[in-house]
Amino acid sequence: MVPMSAASRATRRAPPRRLGNTTKSAARAAGDAESLPSSTHSARNTTAAGQGGDAATAGRIARYELQETAARALGEGARVGVCLKCLRPGEAGVKVLYSPARGSAHYGGLMVCGSVWVCPVCAAKISERRRVELTAAVEAWRARGGVVLIAAYTFAHGPRDALSGALGRFLAAQRALTSHKGYKRLLSRHGVLGTVKALEVTWGEANGWHPHTHTLMFLDGAGGVDVDAFQAELYGLWAGCAARQGLMMDSVHGVKVQSTWGAVYDYVQKWGHAPTRRVWDAADELTKAHSKRDRLGERYTPFDLLRSVADVGDAEHLQLFREYAVAFKGRRQLVWSAGLRAAVGLVDEQTDAEIAAEEVDEAVTLAVLGREEWAAVVACRGRAQLLEVARSGDAGLVAGLVESMRERAFPGGGGESRPPP
Ligand SMILES: [Zn+2]
Repeated sequence: MVPMSAASRATRRAPPRRLGNTTKSAARAAGDAESLPSSTHSARNTTAAGQGGDAATAGRIARYELQETAARALGEGARVGVCLKCLRPGEAGVKVLYSPARGSAHYGGLMVCGSVWVCPVCAAKISERRRVELTAAVEAWRARGGVVLIAAYTFAHGPRDALSGALGRFLAAQRALTSHKGYKRLLSRHGVLGTVKALEVTWGEANGWHPHTHTLMFLDGAGGVDVDAFQAELYGLWAGCAARQGLMMDSVHGVKVQSTWGAVYDYVQKWGHAPTRRVWDAADELTKAHSKRDRLGERYTPFDLLRSVADVGDAEHLQLFREYAVAFKGRRQLVWSAGLRAAVGLVDEQTDAEIAAEEVDEAVTLAVLGREEWAAVVACRGRAQLLEVARSGDAGLVAGLVESMRERAFPGGGGESRPPP
């Protein structure tokens, strides 16, 4: 069985490596309106990280950069390719909006893809909302004397297993478990009144794709709980349901239940946070043998794979990301059991698309960009940078930056007749 906290740390920890190129360019671009990156390549090789931007700024800009990589990886027809780039039908221009209450900025009038799986920008927005809800749910439950357990479900897998087949069998086994009479009896005996299931996946060179779920179980807490006994019974049920789908358990895979408040709280606090580590950069190329050995034991999240593609064009990771995108399309990331949200005081659940498309109510419009201006911003890969400037709330700064991007993208004017590079 895999220790849950170790597994989740493995997917999120930041190894002691140097910061890579996207982070550097992101931090630099945030603080330097004049040095617009016109391509990923030119955005590299410059000043060190941290100048003019904090980690949050760098993270926001890196997400837009990574979104460009996702769009290229998935090619024409992928919705992530139009996300926050193309105007919604009927919109005349792109609004640059500023929220004084939040000190944040965002765009209005653009299409959004709403994909929590392949779009780093939408995923950040959706995951943050869901994380806040998860935190509120476990805190509310605990405040009324309830207990929350966390169960991590896995199965044995190998480096050659295709993701879509394994994922399909894994989710079928999970469905079989939750409708199993023995499972329902186990939950009822322990006063489990609701569950939230989170679907996750990592990939590692040694063992391939690792789809897994974490299920938060909300117990009334009245009778106490013998976690070892609970886990042993759950393990038997899970192993049986998995075996019927052709999935096996081994010494490290099965189900692991944790009951400490620290483990539960740690999980929900970190849930959905994109790791900021670099996995493989140009400097690693110089010591490839060593790094290859190092990364044998590493687990990559899908966005780690994408970063590897962005940094060094790793062809294997590109294929893996494409395989993942197909396998996860349309899957639900979080599943709340009926009635639990209401029981912890949460409103009805919004879909991923609804959260991604939501705009802040009290926002101020700093600028409305026409098609040519917006084309220049997109061509300069300046969407994130423009938002960073808009966070100042200063319409003059926004106009100045847009104008400089327009001159850069379309020197001498005539943007309509000269398509962006
Ligand atoms: Zn998106």
